[in-house]
Amino acid sequence: MAKKIKQIAIYGKGGIGKSTTTSNISAALSKLGYKVMQFGCDPKSDSTNTLRNGEYIPTVLDTLREKSTIKASEVLFEGYNGIYCVEAGGPAPGVGCAGRGIITAVQLFKQQHVFEDLNIDFVIYDVLGDVVCGGFAVPIREGIAEHVFTVSSADFMSVYASNNLFRGIQKYSNAGGALLGGVIANSINQPYSKDIIDDFAARTNTQIMQYVPRSVTVTQSELQGKTTIEAAPESAQAKIYTELAIRIAEHEKSAIPSPMGVTELREWAASWGNQLLQLESGVVLGGNQAGI
Ligand code: ADP
Ligand code: MG
Repeated sequence: MAKKIKQIAIYGKGGIGKSTTTSNISAALSKLGYKVMQFGCDPKSDSTNTLRNGEYIPTVLDTLREKSTIKASEVLFEGYNGIYCVEAGGPAPGVGCAGRGIITAVQLFKQQHVFEDLNIDFVIYDVLGDVVCGGFAVPIREGIAEHVFTVSSADFMSVYASNNLFRGIQKYSNAGGALLGGVIANSINQPYSKDIIDDFAARTNTQIMQYVPRSVTVTQSELQGKTTIEAAPESAQAKIYTELAIRIAEHEKSAIPSPMGVTELREWAASWGNQLLQLESGVVLGGNQAGI
């Protein structure tokens, strides 16, 4: 009997750390003995760079532009520790739907039974989450991914993107869509950042999978074209990514989140803004006066 493939999608605002986090999770899972495929679904097409010494790979869409039919093996590249790397690719800037690469690539892999034939344990989709476009919802909507995680810092724009994602998940949840596993809190170095992201998770009825600090080890590793798991396996940061990977591997039960409405989200952010201002200026108001 074929084993069950765990399909996971990681969403978040552009530049928030999706590819960095995803690649480290893939690298950690591969070191734990799992067979992993990382599926880059960002038109930027740089998801798998640090799994391949900083090298870009031809994307599915680019390869399809050159010839009309391709074999999946032509767009599959081996990365660190035997991880399979794929980049869906994107349209030329300003032309067409940015989600088309995902749809095309997923169809190709399904038709050619790639996941089953390669005996894969995990497929991890790295998806840009701040574009509200049908294509990007494919891993959720079509039930391709089973569990969705969001990478978010405590910055408002990042929280906003995650909240939007939660709205998408909620919308498709009664039609067999993927459900939410939790939040990967990235760049959490200040106590207040942790408080903000904790509060966001509590308000939206989800959980934090891991707190990942902003670390120069990540920068150093990236400059070598590597994940932290590969470049600095003994570092504290590598340990944090490994713990996260184990939590994701063991994760079973995802749920429908309770996203905030737009007004509620703005009010929530404003109340945190006031609180931070008071912290900064040293003014301490009583709980009721602070209005939080
Ligand atoms: P995304 O895939 O969401 O667009 P990236 O993973 O490419 O974002 O990250 C953007 C930049 O932020 C990269 O230069 C990356 O090294 C850096 N970065 C992400 N997470 C961390 C972290 N925890 N510590 C240090 N740098 C980070
Ligand atoms: Mg990326």
